Amino acid sequence: MSYDEGNIFARILRGEVPCKKIFENKEALAFHDAYPQAPVHALVIPKAAYQNVYEFYQNATPEQLKGFSEAIVNVIDLLGLKEYGYRMITNHGLYGGQEVPHFHVHLLGGKPLGRMVTVRD
Ligand code: AMP
Repeated sequence: MSYDEGNIFARILRGEVPCKKIFENKEALAFHDAYPQAPVHALVIPKAAYQNVYEFYQNATPEQLKGFSEAIVNVIDLLGLKEYGYRMITNHGLYGGQEVPHFHVHLLGGKPLGRMVTVRD
């Protein structure tokens, strides 16, 4: 399936939809999740059009990988997540529960988050 230019994160990147920006560099943008699932819930996205983590790691340039990693570290620092820890998640595809088809990493924290995953039938 090809990249959907109409997905909500593509629209945020084009400036068509606002976001609560945390950090930006040449390769990545970080903003607060609109429907936070923890006291701190940030999203970090590459500016380039990758649908999921697999496509990103398979195709990203060294500059894109570096810029994305730097964005994650900056968000961890800016939101004060390092001292008590946090959870970093990426969902891929149907079974992963991915809703937005533009690669993104969730950073969650601000309270103890409990066990990692509960899989229900
Ligand atoms: P995922 O299920 O991994 O694809 O996560 C998509 C995330 O995007 C969810 O946590 C949503 O709450 C979040 N989200 C959807 N629309 C927006 C938006 N306009 N601004 C910020 N976060 C959003």
